[in-house]
Amino acid sequence: MKRFSQNTASVRPGAVVMYVDMNSFFASCEQQDDQWLQGRPVGVCTHESPHACVIAPSVEAKAFGVKTGMRLHECRQLCPQIIPVVANPVKYRQYHLQIMQVLRGYCDEVIPKSIDEAVLDFTSYRLVYKDFPALAAQIRAGIAQIGAHLRCSIGIAPNVFLAKLGTELQKPDGLIRITPENLDTYLAGMKLSDLPGIARRNERRLQLIGIRTPLELRYASPALLRKAFGGITGHYWHCRLNFMEVDMYKNDYRAMSAMRTVSPQQRASPQALESLLIALCSRLEQRMVKQEVFCREAGFFIRYRDHTGWDTRIRFQQPVQDGMDIRDYILQEVRAFERQHAAPLLTGRMQSMGVYVQRFVSDKAVAYTLFDNNMRRDQLRRVLYSIRDRYGKNSVRKAVETIVPDVLRDAIGFGSVKDLYEGERFNKYLVEEDKTIRRQS
Ligand SMILES: [Mg+2]
Repeated sequence: MKRFSQNTASVRPGAVVMYVDMNSFFASCEQQDDQWLQGRPVGVCTHESPHACVIAPSVEAKAFGVKTGMRLHECRQLCPQIIPVVANPVKYRQYHLQIMQVLRGYCDEVIPKSIDEAVLDFTSYRLVYKDFPALAAQIRAGIAQIGAHLRCSIGIAPNVFLAKLGTELQKPDGLIRITPENLDTYLAGMKLSDLPGIARRNERRLQLIGIRTPLELRYASPALLRKAFGGITGHYWHCRLNFMEVDMYKNDYRAMSAMRTVSPQQRASPQALESLLIALCSRLEQRMVKQEVFCREAGFFIRYRDHTGWDTRIRFQQPVQDGMDIRDYILQEVRAFERQHAAPLLTGRMQSMGVYVQRFVSDKAVAYTLFDNNMRRDQLRRVLYSIRDRYGKNSVRKAVETIVPDVLRDAIGFGSVKDLYEGERFNKYLVEEDKTIRRQS
């Protein structure tokens, strides 16, 4: 939650930031553990189905044009021999922790950015290390000692953004150092959408004010950028491309979300769909308990297979932490809409659903006095989680969580590592295999 620079950019003369981005991470982990997959096009999928999303193609699959997010049947058209493997988040987290351990051997300032990315701030280590590209090569070799198939791209630059950009420029096994002298040369060969964080929407915003290339973005006036992005965000973009630091912060919880793809079996059963909603709400409850926060706002969204969707956002009068409360509020909204429009929402046409919570308040700030009844429940919840921490995740379970154990699979966002860490330690029950709730098939 530590943020070095909340609203203002910091100028850090001589800063040295290294960004490590694992290449095709999930697929590489699978190849590492199964020799037969090595050298073959692998697609890590969300679940077992020809329409499952491939969330991580291997380097070999990418060579056929397979991209993250394609459906398996689409991938098969490009690469008939693709081997689907169902995702195993526990495995990826275990490798993640091993990789972080290697990185921490070189530097204390390691910030995990996602399950397969980390920032190393070497600014205070300039007297220790003289040759950073050589150091990067050494780090790469250290990671390869965990497993030869774990490859990475490394970027070195004066700030986090440009170091990340360095990793994008060369994949796999990249090593790019961006300096004030060579930045413009790199930018000249890029489109706006090649910049991390500039997707279509931001690209359009920039085009509206006449900025069409990364170079134009770099040299645009901060005032113009503020106008394009509507405030401080525009200033941040100016800073990023001009060697100031605005991204060096540890994960702060502005929002937490949990999303799941709905399997064909779940689609067929309204009860399974409701259980999936419970799983998502429980997941967020667990994360809020860990972070000692309540939320004042929650949202729920459904995506249907025909690409339409439905969303709702709920503001709470009193901050909420209990997953079942959140579920109740969401179902109230769902039922109200269904009644009003005589149209069911939780139907077999669903592709995925997600819940998010935001506008957090510290649990210490929540006034218990008004809600004596809630207080006892909140304490119970804390006790429940501390027992799980000590004795394993399945030692205690709320009755409601046992309804349809099949859907209570690991609902962690794959890219997120926030929950893995509690201060410098990691949350051990996210790296334990959860035997009883694994799918039978
Ligand atoms: Mg990666």
